Amino acid sequence: MKFTNFADYLARLEATSSRLAITEILAELFKKASADEVDKICYLSLGQLAPLYEGVEFNLAEKLLFRAVGQAFKASEEEVKREYKKIGDLGEVAQRLKTLNSGKENRDLSVNQVYEMLLAIAEEGGSGSVERKVRKMAELLGFLDKLSVKYVVRIPLGRLRLGFSDLTILDALSWMLKGDKSQRNIIEEAFNVQADIGNIVRLVKVKGLDSLKDLRVRLGVPVMSGLCQRLPTADEMITKMGKVAVEPKYDGTRLQMHFSRKKIEKEKESLMLFDFKTEGFIRTFTRNLENTTPMFPDLAKAAWQEINAQEVILDGEAIGFDLKTGKFLPFQETIKRKRKHDVSLTAQKIPLRYYVFDVLFKDGRDLLKLPLSERRTILEKTISPKNRTILISPQIVTDQVDVLRTYHDEQKQKGLEGVVVKKWSAPYDPGRRGFTWVKFKEEESKKGGGLADTLECVVMGYYRGKGKRAGFGIGAFLVGIREAENSDTFLTISKIGTGLTDEQWRELKAKSENFKVKSEPKQYKVNKNLEPDVWCEPKIMVEIQADNITVSPIHTAGLALRFPRLVRFRDLKAASQATTLTEAKKLFRMQK
Ligand code: ATP
Repeated sequence: MKFTNFADYLARLEATSSRLAITEILAELFKKASADEVDKICYLSLGQLAPLYEGVEFNLAEKLLFRAVGQAFKASEEEVKREYKKIGDLGEVAQRLKTLNSGKENRDLSVNQVYEMLLAIAEEGGSGSVERKVRKMAELLGFLDKLSVKYVVRIPLGRLRLGFSDLTILDALSWMLKGDKSQRNIIEEAFNVQADIGNIVRLVKVKGLDSLKDLRVRLGVPVMSGLCQRLPTADEMITKMGKVAVEPKYDGTRLQMHFSRKKIEKEKESLMLFDFKTEGFIRTFTRNLENTTPMFPDLAKAAWQEINAQEVILDGEAIGFDLKTGKFLPFQETIKRKRKHDVSLTAQKIPLRYYVFDVLFKDGRDLLKLPLSERRTILEKTISPKNRTILISPQIVTDQVDVLRTYHDEQKQKGLEGVVVKKWSAPYDPGRRGFTWVKFKEEESKKGGGLADTLECVVMGYYRGKGKRAGFGIGAFLVGIREAENSDTFLTISKIGTGLTDEQWRELKAKSENFKVKSEPKQYKVNKNLEPDVWCEPKIMVEIQADNITVSPIHTAGLALRFPRLVRFRDLKAASQATTLTEAKKLFRMQK
C-alpha cells in the first residue's frame, strides 16, 4: 500500500466519530493491506512503531519537530511556532506549510518505506543523534504529500488523535472476517495470551482465525495480567469460589517477569532496546504493558541466582523494603524506583522484594490452563524459600469463611491492604475480570464513610481556577470512567474542585499541559453544562476515593461521586484500565 493511501484512511478515521464506522474503516484497511505490512499499518494507526512494551521511542520533542518542520519547508523555527500557536496542531501546521511551499510530492512511497524511515529516526543514537534525527525527519517530510505530512508529524508527538485503541482493533478484525463482532472473543482471548496487537492482526490476516485458537504464551511477549473482582463478604467468596488460596495483598507494583538463561532470537533484534547481558534474556512488564526492565537491575541480577528454571514467566508484585525498619515502603516510595535516573543508586537505597504469586510458563510449557493448585506446586519448585529478593508469596488454602476472615484481619494488622482470594481449581485468567481472583476489603466497607473501593478515573479536562487557585491555572477537573469493558468511550462521573494539596494541583496542571487538545476527544460523552475549559486526551489516570455514589442527571455515567478526593496519580495505569460503568454500579449497589 502506498503511504498516501494509508494517509487517506487516517483522514477518514479522524473525521469519523461513530465507533462502528471506525471499526468498519479499520476492517477495510486491514483487508486492503498486504501480509508483509499489515502489522506495521496496525502500529502506525495507533501512533506507534512497535508494541509499546518494546520501548521504541522517538525521542523527538516538540521543539525538535518545530525545527524539522522548519527545515523541511524552509520556514524559520519562529514561524513554525507562531503558526502552531494559531492552529494548535503541528500536523496541520506542517500540512499548510507544505501546501504553501508547493514543493515536490512523492506519492510513490510505500507504507513499508515510510515505516523504515521512521524506524531509522527512532533508532538514531549516540553523539550528534539529535541533529541526525531532525535532518532525517525533515527529509522525510520533504518527500511526502501534504496529507501524509500531517500524520507523520503527529506520530513522534504521540498525538495521532484518531480516538481508538487496541480494543477497537480487535473488533475490526472480527469485522474484517465476518462483517460483525461475532469473532471478537476468540481474537481477544488470543490477544490476552500474547499482547502484541500487530502480531495478532498479522496472524489473523495471514493464517486465519484458527491460528489463534491454540496460541501459546511466548517469552518476551507480555500476557495480560489476571485481575481481581470485588465481592462484599467472605461468605459470598466461599459460596462462589469454593476452596480458595488466600494471599496478602501487597501495595507495590505488579510485575510480570520473563526470564531465560538462553538468548532469545527476535525477528528484529534492533527493536529490543533493553538487553543487559549478551547471554540470556530478561524483561519485566507492568500490568499496563510498560517495559520496566531498566528500572529494576537488581531483579535482573537476582533472577540469574534465584530462579530454578531455564526459562520462565512469573507474575507477582514488587515492593520496596526498608532495611532499617524491616517494613514495606508505601507505594509512592516504591514507585520512585521507576524514575529512570539514578536507578542503581535507588536500587541500593530501596531494595526490592518481588513476591511471586503465579507461574505462567516454565521450560517450554504453557501453564495457563492448569489449575492454580498445580501451578502453585510448580512455583514452589521454581522459587526457593532461601531466596533474598525473589520470594514466593505466602498463602493459606481454605474453604472456611472464618479462616479466611481471620487471615484477612491479620494482614490488615500487619499494615497490608487486605487479601486476594483465588479459586484453587481455576486456570490463570488473563485480562479478564472473572470470579477467579477477588480482592477482600470488607473491613473497610464495614467501617462506613467511604465506598468499598476507590475508582480509577481518567482526567478528561480541567476548568481554569478562580480565587486562590487561579495561581495554579486550574481550579477543578473533570473525571470519567469507561462505558464498558470492551469500549474506548468515557463517561463523566465527577467534577472535582477540592481535596487536592497545592502540590497535587501543580502536578495535575503540569500533566494536563502534556495532554491538552484543542477540541473534545471523540471518545468522550460529556454533558454541555460540564464542558471543561481545556480538554485532555485520556492519558492521565487518578485514583479517586468518595464518600458515596449518587444518581446523577448531568453526568453521562448516570452516577456522581459525593465528596470525591484524589488518592494518588496512577502513572502506571492506562485509560483502558479505568473503572467501568458496571463496576461503578456495583459499588453503588454495595453501599446500600
Ligand atoms: P494496582 O495498585 O496494581 O493498580 P489496585 O489495588 O488498583 O492495584 P485491584 O484490582 O484492587 O487493583 O487489585 C489487584 C492488584 O493487586 C493486582 O494488580 C496486583 O498488583 C495487586 N496484588 C497485590 N498482592 C497480590 C496478590 N497476592 N495476588 C494478586 N494481586 C496482588
